[in-house]
Amino acid sequence: MATRTLEARFERMSVNDENEYQKTKVVTTTTQVASNSSRPNLYKVALQTQSANAVSAAVTLPSQAAQRKVAQPSSPTRKALPTTASRASSDEAAHAERKSAALIEQPTIKQFHLGMFEIGRPLGKGKFGRVYLARERTSGFICALKVLHKSELSQGGVERQVRREIEIQSNLRHPNILQLFGHFHDSKRVFLILEFAAKGELYKHLRRENRFPEWKASQYIAQMASALRYLHRKHIIHRDIKPENILVGIHGEIKISDFGWSVHAPNSRRKTMCGTLDYLPPEMIKPGTSDNSYNEKVDLWSLGVLTYEFLVGEAPFEDTPVMTQRRIARADMSIPSFVSPEARDLIKKLLVLDPEKRIPLEQVQTHAWIVKHCTKSSSSRDKS
Ligand code: AMP
Repeated sequence: MATRTLEARFERMSVNDENEYQKTKVVTTTTQVASNSSRPNLYKVALQTQSANAVSAAVTLPSQAAQRKVAQPSSPTRKALPTTASRASSDEAAHAERKSAALIEQPTIKQFHLGMFEIGRPLGKGKFGRVYLARERTSGFICALKVLHKSELSQGGVERQVRREIEIQSNLRHPNILQLFGHFHDSKRVFLILEFAAKGELYKHLRRENRFPEWKASQYIAQMASALRYLHRKHIIHRDIKPENILVGIHGEIKISDFGWSVHAPNSRRKTMCGTLDYLPPEMIKPGTSDNSYNEKVDLWSLGVLTYEFLVGEAPFEDTPVMTQRRIARADMSIPSFVSPEARDLIKKLLVLDPEKRIPLEQVQTHAWIVKHCTKSSSSRDKS
């Protein structure tokens, strides 16, 4: 089987090869991770993630009893039975804690290497590599291992982008941001040890459901607002918020991933944006836009586009590329009548041409539409 062949190949390889990545310090080894007290080892991080997930119980999450039973990315028999994250996660948290016990007994993990992991089924394929389910052998800790080929990274001219992604993502700890536990490399590949998002891509959920009910969209947007607030406090702009860059955890909580376009603000990046135009804010499509002429408020615009797409099933400015740009520049969109007045109000307050006049994230979190659907006491059954 392909997976077995892969595993066998992994078993034979050495991960200590000297190479240009090492020379140019592209890759931070786990020795550094473990020895630096501000960058906890895999075990600590695993526990932090578990407890962070428990903290996210402040927001009622669209989790499901059926989903709690099996960690399958996409169950065809999904039925919404939302419950709180704390209830849902307690069993798994305890289980993960037990499984991680072996690691705590090790004072430090010297260095991550491939032999430490059992490689499981492929989870997906990105532009520059594949992602596999993996289990750390000693602790049994489940994670996702992303394998990037160095030759493809250099051919694609994205080494700096990947380096930035690693730098930024490895310093983030938030229940709605996909955790990067560590990374290592061999002569040909870079391996990223990522938190496993059991329910896969949010984009697929959205396509399957066509559009989300208001309670679910609202809970997702509350989680996005919380994660973005955290990023902006750290002066990080994501710049590529869209359903394709969001994964879903075992409890139905969202996990922002893909920090390939993220930057520290003010940024010094000089590159043309590629991919979909649908989420680009007006200040980034203006001719002559320089890198310093926009700020973290670009993420607020994208949050407005995301809110719209969650509720309507398509992005607000979806059109031919030329028309999309024109419509973005004028904030030219219409919201269908089935969208509630509260949701409509939030979308309009986010999709504002002047970045400074967009509703701030703190006010998103306390907006009537969010409060209506995200208080602990509210039951999803009343809302659907
Ligand atoms: P990427 O290269 O990051 O775009 O990943 C390719 C695909 O692998 C994604 O579209 C997901 O379906 C899957 N994937 C990536 N990372 C994870 C993860 N941490 N947990 C679960 N699935 C993942």
